[in-house]
Amino acid sequence: MAIEGPRALVAGNWKMNGGVAMLKEPRLLAAMLKDVKLKCDVMVCPPAIIARRVKSVLKGSRIRLGGQDCHWAASGAHTGDISAEMLREAGATAVIVGHSERRTNHGETDELVSKKATAAHRAGLKAIICLGETLDERKAGKTLEVLSRQIRGSIPSGSTADLTVIAYEPVWAIGTGLTPTTAEVAEAHAHIRKELEGVVDLEAAATRILYGGSVKGSNAAELMGTPNVNGALVGGASLKAADFLGIIKVYA
Ligand code: PEP
Repeated sequence: MAIEGPRALVAGNWKMNGGVAMLKEPRLLAAMLKDVKLKCDVMVCPPAIIARRVKSVLKGSRIRLGGQDCHWAASGAHTGDISAEMLREAGATAVIVGHSERRTNHGETDELVSKKATAAHRAGLKAIICLGETLDERKAGKTLEVLSRQIRGSIPSGSTADLTVIAYEPVWAIGTGLTPTTAEVAEAHAHIRKELEGVVDLEAAATRILYGGSVKGSNAAELMGTPNVNGALVGGASLKAADFLGIIKVYA
């Protein structure tokens, strides 16, 4: 596969899956990747409660640790929340913000997502900022408009390419087995890249734009080979080391 642009990232979002019994998967993945020369970075984002355990399993491997969400404040009276600084202390180098499940299930707005991304940057973490249209919005021909709005609202000004990763995740493709056509992915990613240049102070060409939504071993090469796609954010297929490896190996 021809790879262009910034170094790719393949990140696994475990969501609310994975207790201690799951630790065998990153252990297995680390062993499987030991002698593989990769042209991408690899990350796993487990539930925060086992982040430290996962980090210690990953010791000595090139697999990085990420968080799934963070609060915008560094500390304080925010029951049940976790700060970017805490994730950093647990060994994370990145945190996902603005995932559609947070936007939908917790009513998170672009403004809040932007505050969370600022918190990630403050803690020295990469913010993996998720964007994406619903099925109704796509059917109404509003995909690019929605992406522009989310870019303007969710990406803090002054963000740098080093600490910012965009994940284009059509909401209707998450966990459904459905994926956009490569032409639709190419259109969305080109639009995001263009908007990054015009709207926020990012080095657009150097910013990684991941695709997410029902990525699996069988469609990864096609999706990752699409112009302006610099890796994947993977949900379901990141839970088993062998499945995740099938995606990562696109970059071997
Ligand atoms: C996700 O939730 O970020 C995701 C892409 O999920 P899945 O791969 O299961 O569609």
